[in-house]
Order: sequence, then structure tokens, then C-alpha cells
Amino acid sequence: MRRSARITIHPEALQNNLKQAKIAAPHSKVNAVIKANAYGHGAVETAGILYQISDGFAVSCVPEALELRQAGIDLPITVLQGHQSVDDLRIAAAYQLRLVVHDDRQLSLLNQINLKSQQHFDLGIKIDTGMHRLGFAPERAETIYTQLKNHAQVNPDELIMMTHFSCADERKNNASQKQLETFANVCENIKAPKSIANSAGILEWQASHADWIRPGIMLYGSSPFADSHRDEHHLQAAMTLNAPVIAIHDLKKGDSIGYGASYQCPKKMRVATIACGYADGYPRHAATGTPVYINGQETTLLGRVSMDMIVIDVTDFKENPVAVGDTAELWGANLSVDKVAQSAETIAYELLCNAGNLCTRSGI
Ligand SMILES: *Cc1c(COP(=O)(O)O)cnc(C)c1O
Repeated sequence: MRRSARITIHPEALQNNLKQAKIAAPHSKVNAVIKANAYGHGAVETAGILYQISDGFAVSCVPEALELRQAGIDLPITVLQGHQSVDDLRIAAAYQLRLVVHDDRQLSLLNQINLKSQQHFDLGIKIDTGMHRLGFAPERAETIYTQLKNHAQVNPDELIMMTHFSCADERKNNASQKQLETFANVCENIKAPKSIANSAGILEWQASHADWIRPGIMLYGSSPFADSHRDEHHLQAAMTLNAPVIAIHDLKKGDSIGYGASYQCPKKMRVATIACGYADGYPRHAATGTPVYINGQETTLLGRVSMDMIVIDVTDFKENPVAVGDTAELWGANLSVDKVAQSAETIAYELLCNAGNLCTRSGI
């Protein structure tokens, strides 16, 4: 199926953004987070683009890691949710995936399997310092580290201690500082590499850089902070979402637009219908006033988002009047996805994942 809305991925932007992560954390190795199909950008494609400049990749689950290995990606791959079954363990050993172990069930699965000689597990040990999503309680860290270090099938030189921030995107929230202190305390006697920082940690909490950083959203050119813009961090948009104008209407004062007639023209207006809607990953909750870029300027969405269409204001385009067949940019280099996300009361992560997975890719 080929719909009109298209995403384009920008390889140089992805590479630039990873380099920005390295500049921010020059002493750390980089595990580029490409889970969820690289936030919609295409996992294999993104891994290929970043292959020369990343030290490794991180994904959520074993099938995501396997897809990368089968595509020939031979850098270290970390599986952030770890194994869920004995099958996952066998695949991890065969393909040398680093599994993040975060609960007792995973420990017991590790004891149920006998690997072929030569095979071993590379592991991460996830400590819950406050997120309460995944991880062992801090007081268990040393015991579990010792247990796994001495485990016959675990490579003792390939253990990494990990934790994850809950509030790093809020610069003034001191939860991150507390999490850093908790992690430093539990790791005091553990001589293993450490990994803490997501994008917000990389850009804001230097103490979180440690041995391996885990940049996700910043690679795709979105700021991890609600109160700042990608330009402040020298990031570039890695995805553009484009769609064509398929109709133009001249409306009079009082005419309404779209479902629920939620928008009424306050004056005579020219409007354009764009072939992109929530079926293409454009957020249905985007409000009237959400920015859209077309013919060299920003304008706004009017009325509700439909399944495959939106309507935008093209009244004030004296120099470059908008015509059927012109292309609108819903987000990309000229219009930050963060702004669109804000107008839809969501985050760029969600928009990128949805559009990436629903839209046709240009060039394919
Ligand atoms: C998704 C994820 C990241 C990346 O987070 P961003 O906010 O996208 O930088 C890092 N670490 C873990 C454990 C994650 O799940």
C-alpha cells in the first residue's frame, strides 16, 4: 500500500546527532538506542548509518537484536529488557547479545540452561534507583553482581552495571541527583563498567556519563527537554514527514472546517487539504494552531485531524500561493517535531514511532 504521506530519513542528521552525544560525553562509549524500529526511523537502516561511529546498539528485546545480527550488524548489542525465555537465552548466546538482567525470574532461567562449550553470556545488571519499572532493589546489587560474576556460563569481564533515570528530562527535578547517589553507593565496591545516561542525562547530568551512554531521542534530532529546542543542542531532524496538498478552498466568514465543525472561520480564508492524518501517524490530538510548514513559511492546522487528512490555513501566502500538488512538511528540518508534539500534548517519541511505522518511506 502506498499512501501519499511520506517519511524521509536523513543519514547525515543521525550521524551529526550521535557525534553531538560524543561531544557532550567525550570519555564514554556510545550505545545508540535503536529500539522500536529506531523510534520509527528503521532499525536496520539506522544501525547501518551509525555503524562506523557507534560503539554498540541497544534495543528492547531479543527479536529486535536478532534482526540486526541477521542484517550483518556485528557491533555489541544490548537487550534492554533482557531475556524472557530459554529460547531468548539460546539466541543471545549464539549471537552474542548482551542481556540486561533485572529480575529473579531471569536469574532462574539462567540456571536452567546449559550452553555449548565456548559459549557464554554477556550481561548487564539493572538496578532500580527510583524508576520502579525494571531493576533489582539497590541493596541486592552486590550480591547479584557477585553471583553472576561467579556464574559458570557468564563472562565475568562482560558485566555492566546499569540504571535508568525517571525524571532526567526535568532539569530542576532533584530526583536525578538522588538516583545518581543511590547508584554510586551501591556500586562502590563493584569494579565493572557502568551505564546510566539517556539523552537528557548526556546533555544535562555530566555525573551520569560513566562508561557507556545510551542516547535515544537525541539521535533523532529531538530535544529530550520540554523547555529547550534541538538547535540549542546542535541536533538535526533525522525524519521529515511530508504530504501533498490535494484540495484548496476559499471560505467565507462563519464557514466551519472538519468533523464536529470545531473551527469556524473568523474571516474570509483560503484553506488547503493535506493528505495526511492519524492513519499516517499524525497525532489526532493536534489542536487548531499546530504548526505546519509549506512553501517557505509556517502556518497552522485548522479544526480536527481526520484519518487521512488535515486542513491548514493558506490565506497569507502572497509570495508563494499554495496550490494543489504542493508539498507540506508536517515536521522535519524546517519544523521541529517537538513543536508539533507540544501542540498535541504528547512527546516527539510517540510521533516519530507512529509515523515511522505507518508511513511510506520515500525512496522505497
Ligand atoms: C529508551 C531508553 C533509553 C534512551 O532514552 P532517550 O530518552 O530516548 O534518550 C536509554 N536507556 C534505556 C534503559 C531506555 O529504555
